[in-house]
Amino acid sequence: MSSGHIFASGKLACTLIPGRLTVVKAGLIDVLELDRLSVGYDRAPVVRDLTLTVGHGEVVALLGANGAGKTTTLRAVSGLLKPVSGTVRLAGQDLAGVSPTARARLGVAHVPPDRGIFFGLTVAEHFRLDGTDLDAAAGHFPALRPLGSRKAGLLSGGEQQMLAIARALSRRPRLLMLDEMSLGLAPVIVERLLPVVREFATSHGTGVLLVEQHVHLALKIADRGYILSHGELAASGAAGALSKDRALLAASYLGGPGDGPPVGSAHG
Ligand code: ATP
Repeated sequence: MSSGHIFASGKLACTLIPGRLTVVKAGLIDVLELDRLSVGYDRAPVVRDLTLTVGHGEVVALLGANGAGKTTTLRAVSGLLKPVSGTVRLAGQDLAGVSPTARARLGVAHVPPDRGIFFGLTVAEHFRLDGTDLDAAAGHFPALRPLGSRKAGLLSGGEQQMLAIARALSRRPRLLMLDEMSLGLAPVIVERLLPVVREFATSHGTGVLLVEQHVHLALKIADRGYILSHGELAASGAAGALSKDRALLAASYLGGPGDGPPVGSAHG
């Protein structure tokens, strides 16, 4: 889809491209498009030529071994890193030159591995800070409701992650990026959190880009997946097909055939 400003009305969305007005059915413009994105640090790209899309209401898993470039990709989408080349588009709009704050206002929500919460603030204060509402968020995570007056630093890891995700959801984002939400959490907690994300994507049309070490849990709720290997796209496809291809997952995810335990174990 060409770059340009987007507006939507009823079931139609319009793409304004200089000299051209294109009207398409709503939902046909992907929430996120990465077009041959190369990005890295000190101008040396660690992610090269990555093309990826996330559609409305779609959950897409971004998988790969440690150091493959998953976090780097997410940081480029939220504007924390400037691409060396290639394009990032949100609902058709080229985000080049758009600041991280402006991207957040356009509907990009990014939950980083450290969860971005403030240990000294209570749960309720986090929502007040964001100008959102704990009650609405508690609809997604009822367990948060009785914790309103508790300082975030005193929450369990799972409760902290709930808070981080609930804050992101309460902003009704167009695109939600979750980076290693399972860090430090037991798989059983992750198994409870992921379906909430899935349900939210489906019911609100939010596109979700999910970086997750628990590969099989991620693919269980995802529609599609992309596997990065050393900064390049190694494979992509429907989540169901990817999760059945153990050899591909093991080779791509663990850095090479036979490099580690089988996917689905401690690493996946
Ligand atoms: P992990 O699962 O371990 O977080 P990842 O796939 O998210 O891995 P990235 O964090 O994107 O990988 O890292 C990709 C590469 O970029 C790695 O080689 C890493 O060492 C390098 N890198 C990450 N952050 C920086 C930085 N701030 N400066 C320089 N190089 C970095």
